[in-house]
Amino acid sequence: MADQAFVTLATNDSYSLGAMVLGKSLRNHNTTRKLVVLVGPNVSEPRQSVLRRIYDDVKVVDVLDSGDTAHLALMKRPDLGVTLTKLHCWTLTQYSKCVFMDADTLVLSNIDELFDREELSAAPDPGWPDCFNSGVFVFRPSVETYGKLLQYCTEKGSFDGGDQGVLNGFFNDWATADISKHLPFVYNLSSIAIYTYLPAFKQFGGSAKVVHFLGQTKPWSYTFDPQTKQISGGSQEAPTHPAFLLDWWTLYASAVVPMLQEQYGDEPFLTGCMESQESDTTVTTETVQVESSSSHAPMEPVMSSEQRKEQWEQGQADYMGMDSFDNIKRKLDTFLK
Ligand code: UDP
Ligand code: MN
Repeated sequence: MADQAFVTLATNDSYSLGAMVLGKSLRNHNTTRKLVVLVGPNVSEPRQSVLRRIYDDVKVVDVLDSGDTAHLALMKRPDLGVTLTKLHCWTLTQYSKCVFMDADTLVLSNIDELFDREELSAAPDPGWPDCFNSGVFVFRPSVETYGKLLQYCTEKGSFDGGDQGVLNGFFNDWATADISKHLPFVYNLSSIAIYTYLPAFKQFGGSAKVVHFLGQTKPWSYTFDPQTKQISGGSQEAPTHPAFLLDWWTLYASAVVPMLQEQYGDEPFLTGCMESQESDTTVTTETVQVESSSSHAPMEPVMSSEQRKEQWEQGQADYMGMDSFDNIKRKLDTFLK
C-alpha cells in the first residue's frame, strides 16, 4: 500500500484550501494509501506548512523551472500552464499506481477500492459522456507515458484548453475499449448532473462517494457563518448542491481553519474569495439555509431546474434575481470562455 497514493494539485493559495479539505476528507475515511499534493511555487509557505500536516508528501512542481521536456512544451504552449502541471503527476514513479483527484473534490466515504482499477479509469463527463471527466482518474506513473503525454500536448494541444481535452485525446479509446475503466458516476458526482437530471440524483445521489465542485464557483468562493450554518455570496446564482457545499464548509471550518489560524493568527478564514479567481468580482447577497447531506437524504437545489424552467415558461422569470440579465450574460460568458 505504501507504493500507492492519492494525488492532487494546487497551483495557488485558493486551490490549496481545496486540497486541504480533500486531504482531510480522505484521512477521515481512513484511507490506507499515501497522500501526495503537487503545489506550484506560488503557494505561500504557511499554506504549504498546513498541507504538510495533512499530506505525506508536498511536492513543489515548477514546470517552468524544470529544465525537462515539460519546460520545452510550455515554451511552445504557454496556454497550457496548469494542464502541464497536472500531467506532472505521471512523474511520481515511486508509486506504482495512483488516483488523481481535483482539489475541488470532496470524499464522502472510503474509496480505496479505486486502486483495483487500471490506467486510465475515470467516470463519464456529465456534459459529454463519451469523454471522461478528468477530476478523478486512476493512473500509473511512468516516465515513458509522461513523455508521450507531453509530446501529444505540444503537437495536438487540448481541444478544450485544459487537461481533460489532452487526456481524452491521448486515452482516446476510453469510451469503447474496456468497460471496467468506466468508474461509476458516484466517484465523480458533479453539480451539473444534479441540475440536469434531478430524478436520477434523488435516486442515486445518496450513494455518492466523491462530490466534484466542477465549474467556475468553488466552495472557497463562498462565505460561511458557522453559527447559523449559512452559506452566502461568491456566486451569481444559488449553489446547485447546497448540502454537499455545507459538508465541505463543515469540514473546512472544523479541521482546516484551526490549522490556518496556527499559521496566521486568529483571522476567522470564513469569508469567501480568499484571493480566489479573478473572475469572481461580483458577489451577490443570495443566501441559502441548508442541512448537511451526511445526516439526510440528498437535498434538492434551492429551486430545481424543472421548477425554474416551468416558472420561466409561465413568464415568471426571476428577472431581478436568478434570471437577471447580468446572470444570464455571465452564464453565457462561462460557456463561451
Ligand atoms: N488547478 C490549480 N490551479 C488553478 C486551476 C486548477 O491548481 O488555477 C488544479 C486543481 O487541482 C483543480 C484542477 O486543476 O481542481 C482542475 O481545475 P478545476 O477544478 O478548476 O476545473 P473544473 O473541474 O471546474 O473543470
Ligand atoms: Mn475540478
